[in-house]
Amino acid sequence: MKRKIIPIFVPHIGCPHDCIFCNQKKITGAGTDVTAESAEEIIKEHLSTIDAKNSIVEIAFFGGSFTAIEESFQRSLLAVASRYKKAGIVSDIRLSTRPDAIDGERLALLREYGVTIIELGVQSLDGEVLSKSLRGHTSEDVFAAAALIKEWGFTLGLQLMVGLPGDTPQKCIDTARKFIKMEPQLARIYPTLVVRDTALERLHAQGEYRALEIEETIEICKKLLVLLTGAGVNVIRIGLQPTEEISMGNQVVAGPLHPSLRERVESRIYRDYIESALPSKGQAETIRVFGSKKNMSKLVGNKRENITYLKSISAASVEMKEAKMADDAIAIEIDGEKRIVDISTVYLELERIYF
Ligand code: SF4
Repeated sequence: MKRKIIPIFVPHIGCPHDCIFCNQKKITGAGTDVTAESAEEIIKEHLSTIDAKNSIVEIAFFGGSFTAIEESFQRSLLAVASRYKKAGIVSDIRLSTRPDAIDGERLALLREYGVTIIELGVQSLDGEVLSKSLRGHTSEDVFAAAALIKEWGFTLGLQLMVGLPGDTPQKCIDTARKFIKMEPQLARIYPTLVVRDTALERLHAQGEYRALEIEETIEICKKLLVLLTGAGVNVIRIGLQPTEEISMGNQVVAGPLHPSLRERVESRIYRDYIESALPSKGQAETIRVFGSKKNMSKLVGNKRENITYLKSISAASVEMKEAKMADDAIAIEIDGEKRIVDISTVYLELERIYF
């Protein structure tokens, strides 16, 4: 059964803040505010294209800060979603919100309408990063909100941003470690993009903010992915999906926007693991790596970068070959010695190497 998500964007309504990087209207491409009627239209439109019998369908209110919206309006949107859930057409209702817009009363309301998954836009748990990013909440707000969400039995998702003002790779890792302590089931990792008409755009124009390069982003995200996955947190997204709006030169001015960032990150993880499997001085005559069809592009790397890199560090002939094997395993043969490793071993070994 495939999970199908019906996204309803709630752009910035209800959010009393102006985070330095945020322009929800630009980033969601939703210039007009959603209504209960338009939400219903969106749901119907998506359902007409979904094979609902063979899918797990979810309605997701993304963008903005859902629980900061005026209560009667929250109710009108949730009532629509809840009708589809009660009818058995939809199995989950998800929403994202701010940590300081969570309390018992709001959670009671969400439960009343059958919400199952709550994602918190945390972004960082470093005080300096939070304050420089004008988030308007503290790390204590996050810990309290996460604990309450878990206590009430919702599925907890945490969102982390890398490359915010004042951020460093170590601060991102510290944030991920604190995430793990909150025991979320899900996480998303978003590299910071400089979006038009934001305070961050002004900082960037004045030369006071430098956006991360793709390469730096991959290096940070690979460690976050290994750390979170190793702790049993399902990282459901890395990077924003480019769209007509979210594209360089349109609404995005600078930053590590990439159409398949996650694939690049996973590809780097494979490369690091293969490198770690080389003999101690890195020298080898032949390196052959086997993977399923699905894994081949990650093994080979963007523009064959993994092959080029492995050749450069080992002086070996390097071959990546498709083989009939499970998607969660690869086989590495170095100078005739072959072993099969599953992905969890790859992540475990890299956690030891990275940290
Ligand atoms: S809390 Fe969310 S919606 Fe509100 S300004 Fe910040 S990023 Fe934008």
